[in-house]
Amino acid sequence: MAASRNVMRAVRVFEFGGPDVLKLQSDVLIPSPKAQQVLIKVHACGVNPVETYIRSGTYARKPALPYTPGTDVAGVIETVGEQVTAFKKGDRVFTMETISGGYAEYAVAAADKVFPLPDKLDFKQGAAIAVPYFTAYRALCQKGHAKAGETVLVHGASGGVGIAACQIARACGLKVLGTAGTEEGMNTVLRNGAHQAFNHREANYISKLKEYTGVEGVDIIIEMLSNVNLATDLQLLSRGGRVMVVGCRGPVEINPRDTMSKESSIIGVSLFLATEEERRECTTAVFDGIEAGWLKPTVGSEYPLEKVVKAHEDIIHCSGAQGKMVLLP
Ligand code: NAP
Repeated sequence: MAASRNVMRAVRVFEFGGPDVLKLQSDVLIPSPKAQQVLIKVHACGVNPVETYIRSGTYARKPALPYTPGTDVAGVIETVGEQVTAFKKGDRVFTMETISGGYAEYAVAAADKVFPLPDKLDFKQGAAIAVPYFTAYRALCQKGHAKAGETVLVHGASGGVGIAACQIARACGLKVLGTAGTEEGMNTVLRNGAHQAFNHREANYISKLKEYTGVEGVDIIIEMLSNVNLATDLQLLSRGGRVMVVGCRGPVEINPRDTMSKESSIIGVSLFLATEEERRECTTAVFDGIEAGWLKPTVGSEYPLEKVVKAHEDIIHCSGAQGKMVLLP
């Protein structure tokens, strides 16, 4: 058994590049938690698109090599550092950050970045909470200042952040429209809080959206693929509307005049820039939602650690998301 040998299976990246640089190794030392850290036996780890950008070496933030990717871990506390009182061996937890990396059988995390995993959620759901829900809450509430009665378009609603945004928006009293690329994805979006779903792979879906929203347009757009949609988004907005740029994979040409006619705003969102206070606010909102029962992470495709290369290929060239992608050690 790996633990008794003090080694574990973990994915390691020794050089930046394509998905093939992800190497699953079976003799990686199990990290030891320092005084204010915990060691988690990983049961599931969320895969976030940003992990592919970091792996490729093109992202602004680069970890020192070699490293193990993965931040959204759910699992069970194995050991705790000597100053940790909040957790004990056997506690079910999830994290929003790890120190040693989550694509592994064990991960060390700072105790103050670890949260108890409520009984009503399983480990896969636990691995679908932190980055998706914190990002969606930041985009909608902290930066987008969404108000009950407004209309939101979640442009790319079938993946991790999109489903979180639909659930939060619905709970906050907004009218929720969501897009997906498949029939199954649209059904997932409708099951997760959207009043109406549209297919962003259909040639005339923008006309359908315009027809549905009428002259009023939408107040907020949570945009997952700005490099494709930003110019069109500006035409869908209401007066004073705002586009929240959550996802972007390249440049795009827009006509700034389109912002003048409605005094609309384009607002960048970065979870990385959230202050400690803002993160605490996200945490409170998430736990309130779990307790109330409307926050239910939806897990989509699942991959064993052995298939990590495929997972990184598929999250970018997705044939249709139906929830959060997770890796299972
Ligand atoms: P995900 O689970 O892989 O979901 C991707 C979503 O994009 C799916 O709903 C997909 O729909 C949709 N999509 C595909 N083509 C689209 C199109 N033409 N127009 C609109 N949507 C389209 O990824 P995620 O975790 O939700 O993350 C979404 C984006 O947000 C990524 O770019 C990620 O890097 C970014 N992100 C940013 C932050 C931040 O702090 N700014 C934090 C987290 C994530 P189908 O598969 O149904 O086609």
